Amino acid sequence: MLENIHKSIDEIYPEMVEIRRYLHQYPELSFQETKTAQYIAEYYEQLEIPYIANVGGNGVIATLKGDKPGKTVALRADFDALPIQDEKDVLYKSKVPGVMHACGHDGHTATLLTLAKVMKEYQDELEGTIVFLHQHAEEYAPGGAKPMIESGALKNVDAVFGNHLWATLPVGLLQTSKSVMMAGADRFELTIQGQGGHGAYPQETKDAIVIASEVVSQLQQIVSRRLDPLETAVITIGIFQAGTAFNIIADQAKLTGTVRYTNPDIQEKIIGEIEKIIKGICISNDADYTLDYLKGYPPLINHPEEAEIVLEASKNIVEIYKAEETSPYMAGEDFAYYTMEKPGAFFFTGANKAGNPYPHHHPKFDIDEKSMPIAAKTLIGAYFGFQRSTR
Ligand code: MN
Repeated sequence: MLENIHKSIDEIYPEMVEIRRYLHQYPELSFQETKTAQYIAEYYEQLEIPYIANVGGNGVIATLKGDKPGKTVALRADFDALPIQDEKDVLYKSKVPGVMHACGHDGHTATLLTLAKVMKEYQDELEGTIVFLHQHAEEYAPGGAKPMIESGALKNVDAVFGNHLWATLPVGLLQTSKSVMMAGADRFELTIQGQGGHGAYPQETKDAIVIASEVVSQLQQIVSRRLDPLETAVITIGIFQAGTAFNIIADQAKLTGTVRYTNPDIQEKIIGEIEKIIKGICISNDADYTLDYLKGYPPLINHPEEAEIVLEASKNIVEIYKAEETSPYMAGEDFAYYTMEKPGAFFFTGANKAGNPYPHHHPKFDIDEKSMPIAAKTLIGAYFGFQRSTR
């Protein structure tokens, strides 16, 4: 059956491309993806595969129950886009100003929809149940995965697999991990309130720029001096805003940053150290502050058995020349919530387009669409692999 399915996936490739390019032209931002959700729902309507819409927001879940008994496996694709102006010179360029599928979620959706169409043809031979889990709002925490799970998306699901087309990996390379695949990702905003004044009379002020600079450099010592050197973490200040003129001492400084970590146990330690440093520096400078710390997605931790299933599945796919285990990526992914609930694994399908070196979230980001059938074959291969597993 697998050989025939691969053939069917190859045959449906033109439709896969057509869907991907359509979605690419009409991207929608996280939590606003109503038209995309409707498009997905209508596709299942036409296939006569039962589905539920508005799951935990804009999520859509379709269920294909095979005629033979077996386990229930969810395959997940996200479908939101990013607030980026598309700068590619292609016919399928985004038609929505300032919004772009710059992470490949259009490709994930096209892959899963056409895989559903293929598998519908095999329903009478199929063991178990495939849950096609179309998730909204991956790009913006708190994300769509959590509310979808809270709405019962994983109820009766035995395992979950997810694919990310990865534009900086060559087509034919697959990566997964038997533990941490992607980092936990938090963000914070800090406002330091000093006291402004004339640039020539610092003694009468509390210079917010100097105070905030101390904070920035001391925050860098959390990773280098307060965490175990074997832990993996990043603290980045991405925005530092203060001051109005060369001869005025700034009264206020605003810092915005992100924290990345791979071990869930060190998140609280990092938050505690951040607060301690800010508080200490502000006390010693008679300044006030407000800190808004937003916990984002936790680290995405794969289950080793399901990662092995993905690696095994890749051996049956002729287009995959290499499948390897990767060390953690420091980007975040709310697929993390699924593997906290159920056995599962996330994997990267190489999708580098010849001559396009631009990474995810870049205005010229694009994928090689030939990565999509490879991802479809891996997803369904993982499905069959799990059916054979002892879980
Ligand atoms: Mn993504």
